[in-house]
Amino acid sequence: MIIVGLTGGIGSGKTTVAKEFELLGIPVYIADVEAKKLMNKSKIIKRKLVQLFGDNAYIDDTLNKPFIASKIFNNKDLLQQMNAIVHPRVAKHFNTWVLKQTSPYIIKEVAILFENNGDQFCDYIITVIAPKELRVKRLLTRDKTSKEKIDAIIKNQWSDEAKMKRSHYVINNIDLDDTKRQALNIHCKILEVTQ
Ligand code: ATP
Repeated sequence: MIIVGLTGGIGSGKTTVAKEFELLGIPVYIADVEAKKLMNKSKIIKRKLVQLFGDNAYIDDTLNKPFIASKIFNNKDLLQQMNAIVHPRVAKHFNTWVLKQTSPYIIKEVAILFENNGDQFCDYIITVIAPKELRVKRLLTRDKTSKEKIDAIIKNQWSDEAKMKRSHYVINNIDLDDTKRQALNIHCKILEVTQ
């Protein structure tokens, strides 16, 4: 199975682009969404996260996201320990999911693909970019967050330039119709090489 990694900085429009590929009939795996589902479902992940963060990690058996976010914010060591618990299980879940797909290729959306060396497991990589001010504006509309928090996340991610250098395709996500055209164009190019 051809695996196409879809990445981009926070608020660049990864999920918006992923939806376009879904509309084109391509199965999409959104790593962050699946990780959160597993953090709520998997007994072993739950047990290990409670060991790491304490009982407050879950409220009524549901992941206490604000508590975890506050713990890992500015604590790289804890974040790494959490990733060491969650990432291998998400990888296993993804591998099982991939085996069930029958399409010419699949899209795997991963926010921090290069940062975690996930690019080595992809056949092609699409990076979504958008001007920083536009990303901040969209995120402030979408989420209860602040410019400071967004800036702190952006600082921890690779720059667009670094990602673009190592990508096969780049989508400049400003105007939505134009983004849809770019996604269709890439879809056709990938189909050409896979068929
Ligand atoms: P995150 O990094 O948080 O996972 P993301 O990169 O997946 O975000 P999206 O959730 O797709 O980004 O987009 C962020 C916000 O911007 C959403 O509210 C989305 O609807 C909006 N948005 C994305 N692309 C466009 C566009 N081309 N025109 C207008 N709004 C857009």
